[in-house]
Amino acid sequence: MIRCPMVTTATLPQVELGRTGKRLSRLALGGFHQLEISTEIVERVVDRYLDYGGNYIETARGYGNGASEEKLGRVLAGRRSDVVLASKSGSRDAEGMKRDLDASLTALQTDHIEFYYLHGVNSTDEIEQLRADDGALTVLLRAEEEGVIDGIGLSSHRPWIYLEAIRTLPISLILIWDNYLEEQYLPVIHDEIYPLARERGVGITAMKPLADGFLYRSPREALRYALGSGSDLLVCGMNTVEHVDQAAEAVCAGPATEAERAGILRSAVELGSYVCRQCGECPASLMHLFRLEGYLDRQMIDYLEHDPANYALRLRLAGWFALADYAKAQFSDAGLDADALLAESESVECPYGIDVRRKTRLAFTKLAGDDPNRV
Ligand code: SF4
Repeated sequence: MIRCPMVTTATLPQVELGRTGKRLSRLALGGFHQLEISTEIVERVVDRYLDYGGNYIETARGYGNGASEEKLGRVLAGRRSDVVLASKSGSRDAEGMKRDLDASLTALQTDHIEFYYLHGVNSTDEIEQLRADDGALTVLLRAEEEGVIDGIGLSSHRPWIYLEAIRTLPISLILIWDNYLEEQYLPVIHDEIYPLARERGVGITAMKPLADGFLYRSPREALRYALGSGSDLLVCGMNTVEHVDQAAEAVCAGPATEAERAGILRSAVELGSYVCRQCGECPASLMHLFRLEGYLDRQMIDYLEHDPANYALRLRLAGWFALADYAKAQFSDAGLDADALLAESESVECPYGIDVRRKTRLAFTKLAGDDPNRV
């Protein structure tokens, strides 16, 4: 076991995960990015992660159609008991879930997976399918009874689905995204989802602390900020030993204090003078408009100057959650008036240096479905 770099608090801090009975390190190793590296590199990354006292690794059947699971299975052979494992299936019916669970067990070279997730549940219809007599839940509940798994998790890209799922499904944990970009337009995560999960004893694991890589210039700030946002632990994709060192140092340093969080929001290069921090200086109608812009494109498409790599990243990530239709429907329902909003924006002095009038015009144009290049 190695000590966390730059701090004297030994290894990764641990936490009780909801009512699961599991005590896990607050830094989990995510499996999605293992598709980008060879098994040999995965092994080095896993070794380093375990050296810091990390004990929670998650993957999914859908990550490379089992390729991530297979790499982990090879790397963890002979030391399965060192870690708590989670995997996921996108199947909604019993037959598909049985097939996926069996395949996960085979790929991971084990007869037991602690947590198995309902992966990417994005609609009420899917929840109904899962709960049906021939739905996927029947398989997972039986697997839980038989000790093949210890608990059922849920992940989604729709905030409202977490609320419905926590209320209606027999889940022990959720995997939800949490970072200082998404926080600006999804207050529902901290205001409603986390409190409900706490009330029901559902463990909260937070993914995307770097917003799918968008916060790549500020990994330490992003991790410490996310660590202080109310989840139990962070799930972080790490592709190199250096990534593990960096993440372990940040998590061992502990959550950012309130003063540090305010400082991060003030100086975050990725939020710059465009992303609304929802500070309350604007009227509610404008803050609502900017939250809808977040749903639309995560406030990434700002028509400002960036370096080429940053443009490429923005274009790739802006539609990652596929919430544009939802944003436009909400915008249409809100019946906002462009002239009234622009008039309201005139008097706002944004403490973050945002040109509120320009942002109002741009957000309105995008949400109305017009092309900002032509107005
Ligand atoms: S003043 Fe700036 S940060 Fe505050 S709500 Fe308005 S645009 Fe957002």
